[in-house]
Amino acid sequence: MVLREENLIKNLEAVKDNIKNAAAEYNIFHPSNFTELIAVSKTFPARDIEVLLEHGHRVFGENKVQEALEKWLPLKQKYPQSTLHMIGPLQTNKVKDALKIFDVIETVDRKKLANMLAKYIKETDKKVECFIQVNTGEEPQKAGILPSEADEFIRYCVAEISLPIRGLMCIPPADEEPSVHFALLSHIAKRNGLVDLSMGMSRDYELAAAMGARYVRVGSAIFGSRSQAE
Ligand SMILES: *Cc1c(COP(=O)(O)O)cnc(C)c1O
Repeated sequence: MVLREENLIKNLEAVKDNIKNAAAEYNIFHPSNFTELIAVSKTFPARDIEVLLEHGHRVFGENKVQEALEKWLPLKQKYPQSTLHMIGPLQTNKVKDALKIFDVIETVDRKKLANMLAKYIKETDKKVECFIQVNTGEEPQKAGILPSEADEFIRYCVAEISLPIRGLMCIPPADEEPSVHFALLSHIAKRNGLVDLSMGMSRDYELAAAMGARYVRVGSAIFGSRSQAE
């Protein structure tokens, strides 16, 4: 096997071990395999992804609709059990295309998008799950519903338009202690009767797992650093 392939598998297994160990701290509430790893393959070629698919990994994340369609339409043919999460901002005019390739939309954050998703999910009868993105750091440049508006937005999505909401997702500010944001996300979820949290990236996925994340989204710790600007 070539070095790149060996390294990808080694990195994936190391991240999975770290998640298991970190999640053990949370074991009183959840089984040790509660936290699932989303391998974030954005910017990396289909061949890298296929190495991990061949190795048995099934859950991946991408942040752009067009890139996901190009890489994943062939991959999904070959590996129909694979699951793809949309983790980037989603424009309403891309919803229809997004539903052709993504199984989970993690970035629902406004009514216009929620309505469009609900409409197309109903029309196509597509099995898809959603997370609501919360802008826990209240950063103006970042997507996500504000914490103060989260309760009403969750209620709207669940009760008024029957969007299949699984849980909440956040991306903490780069320069702040992530545990505060993970705790806030967990708190908002609990008071709204939601269980599943998507939180934690390469720099803080162990902490997120220890704090009860259902999904951690890990890119560079598996695939290496992304050279291009995003
Ligand atoms: C890119 C990205 C990740 C993965 O980031 P790494 O630091 O490379 O692990 C996770 N979540 C979101 C929303 C992303 O855009």
